[in-house]
Amino acid sequence: METTPHIAIFPTPGMGHLIPLVQFAKRFTSLHKFTATFIIPIGEPLSEAQKIFLDTLPSGLDYVVLPQLKLDDLSEDVKAETRMSIMISRSLPSLRDVLKSMMATKKLVTLVVDLFATDALDIALEFKLQPYIFYPTNAMALSLFLYLPKLDAETSCEYRDLPAPVQIPGCIPIDGEDLLDPVQDRKNDAYKWVLHHTKNYRLAHGIMVNSFEDLEEGAIKALQELGSPPIYPVGPLVQMDHSSSAADRLDCMRWLEDQPRGSVLFISFGSGGTLSSKQITELALGLEMSEQRFLWIVRTPNDESANATFFGIRSKNNPIDFLPEGFVQRTKGQGFVVPNWAPQAQILSHGSTGGFMTHCGWNSILESVVSGVPLIAWPLYAEQKMNAVMLTQGLKVALRPQVGENGLVERVEIATVVKHLMEGEEGKRLRTRMRDLKEAASRALSDEGSSTKAIAQIASKWTS
Ligand code: UDP
Repeated sequence: METTPHIAIFPTPGMGHLIPLVQFAKRFTSLHKFTATFIIPIGEPLSEAQKIFLDTLPSGLDYVVLPQLKLDDLSEDVKAETRMSIMISRSLPSLRDVLKSMMATKKLVTLVVDLFATDALDIALEFKLQPYIFYPTNAMALSLFLYLPKLDAETSCEYRDLPAPVQIPGCIPIDGEDLLDPVQDRKNDAYKWVLHHTKNYRLAHGIMVNSFEDLEEGAIKALQELGSPPIYPVGPLVQMDHSSSAADRLDCMRWLEDQPRGSVLFISFGSGGTLSSKQITELALGLEMSEQRFLWIVRTPNDESANATFFGIRSKNNPIDFLPEGFVQRTKGQGFVVPNWAPQAQILSHGSTGGFMTHCGWNSILESVVSGVPLIAWPLYAEQKMNAVMLTQGLKVALRPQVGENGLVERVEIATVVKHLMEGEEGKRLRTRMRDLKEAASRALSDEGSSTKAIAQIASKWTS
């Protein structure tokens, strides 16, 4: 029997959830003498990016992939939150088996679950493990989650039809239509699942949230005033292995190396983001028109769904084929396009990167904050519209292009916003504010910082 305290972690497999959970485990096990195992449910085989990511976990961290679940009874248009929740509930018997065998050899102390895996909290209690939730996004979304049962009980219409913005405790007011995707249709299963999870949150002995006070002071205070369950702001947890030699050898990093300092706009829509083919054309032509340098991770268009690659970074076609005719040749000196996937955190921390057009996924935002890079906010799904409001109206570190009447952000608008960010006065102001946040992020991660202290508090609870 091992004597080192061991953490069992039950994530959902999307990279946007896996990456911060792995960062949490890395930081936790390097600061305190714990080991950890990720127990991963899957509905389809892991993608190459997921495999590489998991196969390079440092020592002390391990993973087990649960038997692939059959999800083919779910209809094509089922929402991501429903899919994740059903996947979790179907994987509970295999989770139980893995925990049972781990208990025989390891000193298991806790089960940490993903924000949509709250059905596993009961299993933690069954095995006498401390149940914790890791919330990979921000305190504002967590505050909404904890407030949702009350909001649900008090509201009879759709939230987007409310006459006034929703006042999430501690946060900037948010119009109903900007609240996260799954609460937009209260009759849809995705809403029922989210509500179900939020009601389960009180079972947790603690919730870790990937944020820090200088970024979200109001929301974190409001959460801490709730008292139960205790909230631990452990952020900013982002990928920090910036000196990966494998990444340095990539063509896009070599190209970046040759560009002037702060001159390149980086464009990425996260692990799941896809644009329609018309929107890709407008974006390409807008970038060309802006005459600014760019590095763009391009995905095959998906005209039906904005998060088409969320569960696996896999495109059947070559995305570059969908760019406008002659675009790659015409922009040869100006830009660089990468199909599907590139080491985003490394790109953001590179000195040549001066701006980031983002879908406003929380990991992407934090990666930009720790690198001090100002943003263009282009929200697509999940809680990204709320994040965009926080970035533009609250923190004032992002510009947001207008969507035209045809539902597209048009090329002229794109070119204008890109120029403003990269060489305008407004861009300078945003950059200065982002640099202040970068310093605050680095203080949070220092020995005496809030992230380090929150992690120490959790460690002491898990060993007591
Ligand atoms: N990411 C990456 N390379 C890519 C696209 C995404 O490394 O080509 C990483 C990115 O750095 C971030 C995560 O994938 O850590 C995406 O998480 P985020 O919360 O921003 O968005 P999501 O994918 O959950 O929508």
